Amino acid sequence: MSVPESCRGLRGKLIVSCQAVAGDAFYGPDLMARFALAAVAGGAAGIRANGPEDIRAIRQVTAVPIIGIQKSVHPDGRILITGSFESAHALVEAGASMIALDCTARGQRYGAFDRVRRIREELGVPVLADIATMDEALASADAGADMVLPTLRGYTPDTEEVTAFDPRFIEELVGRLGVPVIAEGRIVSPAQAREAIAAGAFAVVVGTAITRPKDITGWFATAVEHEFRCQTRETYFVGVDLGGTNTKFGVVSSTGTLVFDSFVPTPAGGGREALLDNVKRAIREARRRAAELGIAIEAAGIATAGWVDARTGRIAYATGNLPGWTGTPVAEEVSADCGLPVAVENDANALAAAEKRFGAAREWTDFVCITLGTGVGSGCYVGGALHRGAHFFANALGHMVLIPDGIPCNCGQRGCLEVYCNAAALVRYAGGEFPSAADAIAAANAGDANAAAAIRTLGGHLAQGCAALVQLLDPQGIVLSGGLAMNNPQLLAAVSERLPPLVSVWDRRGLSLVSSGLGYFGGVLGAAALACDRWR
Ligand SMILES: [Zn+2]
Repeated sequence: MSVPESCRGLRGKLIVSCQAVAGDAFYGPDLMARFALAAVAGGAAGIRANGPEDIRAIRQVTAVPIIGIQKSVHPDGRILITGSFESAHALVEAGASMIALDCTARGQRYGAFDRVRRIREELGVPVLADIATMDEALASADAGADMVLPTLRGYTPDTEEVTAFDPRFIEELVGRLGVPVIAEGRIVSPAQAREAIAAGAFAVVVGTAITRPKDITGWFATAVEHEFRCQTRETYFVGVDLGGTNTKFGVVSSTGTLVFDSFVPTPAGGGREALLDNVKRAIREARRRAAELGIAIEAAGIATAGWVDARTGRIAYATGNLPGWTGTPVAEEVSADCGLPVAVENDANALAAAEKRFGAAREWTDFVCITLGTGVGSGCYVGGALHRGAHFFANALGHMVLIPDGIPCNCGQRGCLEVYCNAAALVRYAGGEFPSAADAIAAANAGDANAAAAIRTLGGHLAQGCAALVQLLDPQGIVLSGGLAMNNPQLLAAVSERLPPLVSVWDRRGLSLVSSGLGYFGGVLGAAALACDRWR
């Protein structure tokens, strides 16, 4: 890869873009020169600046390379970067070491590639192409641009969905271009600047985050005021818990008060549209009830069966219990319907989030919330954050093999913990004497010895699973949640008794084992907690 002589000193370095718009408190060549001086003193190896006046002033205070640009309004009413050869000429005369110009599709329509050639040939300086897409980058390199900068990504019609720095695009550019790539565009932290270099960038340009005190102040002011509002004002969220049987939903305050709750049957076999419609209707109903109470809703959270890519709110995988649900972009679809920010999360993870924000785990950074019902699931917090795994499939406690070659599980394996610790297992341990797990629990609470023995059997198996979790994660606590843990003190007692002998150095762990106090709408509380996180 050939690098022009005048650019070599920029390799692996920071370039600071010193620009101000008319009306800004720092507008003017003298002030830009002072910014440049501070930037160079701080370690910048180059400056990017707009217009001959600023460049002339900057050139008087520093000898570092200057990337010159000239912003001007063009016949289509929009600003174009260095839209004429004459402006490039004036920049070089003022002291610019190289010229950047708009080489997006629009820039090309205004003759960008002719200017690339003319500036190189007639002015004898390197030319840098400001682009937004891969096609524009490739065409610019073909047209002779010495370097490529994705400066305009996010600012053209076909990239307007890009709103943040994307190191993957830098990596793609570096992978496909034969010329150096300088990272530029929405890099607002040292961590992002590092990522750009890690992605293979030749150098990194940072502007606003260094030279726009008004914008930087705005970031801080917004953060401070937003947090103060969160602290001092009760805010409200809709939580929806989409289960295989029922869809529970409600309105939850930021302090965990369930203001309203309800449930409807889940159209589990109805396919994607029916499931989405069900969730949308639940949110509308919750908002209608909130409005009646004079409550504004800030965001909605959805806890759902299946594994979820929580970053995008898409269902990574759902079992046959919810046909058609796999791949559904739930957050996008529901947010478009209700106009609120929407968080989506796996239901067991949501229960853990509810414990973390409103329940037993408020003071813990590392804990596991085990959900016991028709199935067995778990949500784990590790180091204060919800642990999801590389493919969002983590925490499948129910499918850890407990008994080799044991009872077949609906996951296809045999001997999974789930089939020894779920509601059906409890009914089975009681010899079929009780029609449901809830009946067995009620009988045990009333003193029935058979039911109590069945709970102890289940507790023994569950203790085995907990022991593996404790050895793996060393949590501060385990919360037993779900229908089987509700009103079931004998289960908690059985696990508490059976677990310690199965764990090494138990005495030094100080592990708390508790039952959830969040009740039937724990999933709704968890969904709302995640909505609150998303909103904040
Ligand atoms: Zn299984």
